Amino acid sequence: MNKLIQLHNDIDVRVQAIRENYVDWQCKMGCDSCCHRLAEIPRLTRAEWNFLCDGLSALPTEILSQITQTVAELAKQSTQFVICPMLDKSKGACMVYAHRPVACRTYGYYDQHDKGLYCNDILERVISGVLNEVVWGNQNTIDRQLSSFGNTRDLTEWFAHWKKVTP
Ligand code: SF4
Ligand code: SF4
Repeated sequence: MNKLIQLHNDIDVRVQAIRENYVDWQCKMGCDSCCHRLAEIPRLTRAEWNFLCDGLSALPTEILSQITQTVAELAKQSTQFVICPMLDKSKGACMVYAHRPVACRTYGYYDQHDKGLYCNDILERVISGVLNEVVWGNQNTIDRQLSSFGNTRDLTEWFAHWKKVTP
């Protein structure tokens, strides 16, 4: 099993443990607030990008063209918050869910307060005492593992490179 799939599996185990204790945990497919409000252009390691490419390549041509165009526009965007180009806004669903980057898999479950990276929806429930016994995963541990997954680039850069090498 490759290292990325192993990491996905490890995250799934942690996610499952949280779900078992908090059956109303709202972090799942269909909850899309975070995808509407990314703090920055997603950054991916080479291994994550290669995996994501499998998901992108399986999309219908017109959807892929749409995403490619949105990514190109994103590269020029100067506003702070980013709507993920791979979000189907009409359905509130990720178009590459099975192939999404690690950050998308961990965002609601793993804590990295020092970088301001956490889900506000979850945090509100923690502050109100509903989730005050959750044992969070440690995002720094995940980041350490990701550092061995090849170079990291913005999604816009990976796309630009990809379009150069694919017809
Ligand atoms: S991180 Fe927050 S907004 Fe994103 S899916 Fe989880 S609960 Fe929803
Ligand atoms: S890749 Fe999918 S899950 Fe991740 S931010 Fe984009 S739409 Fe959301």
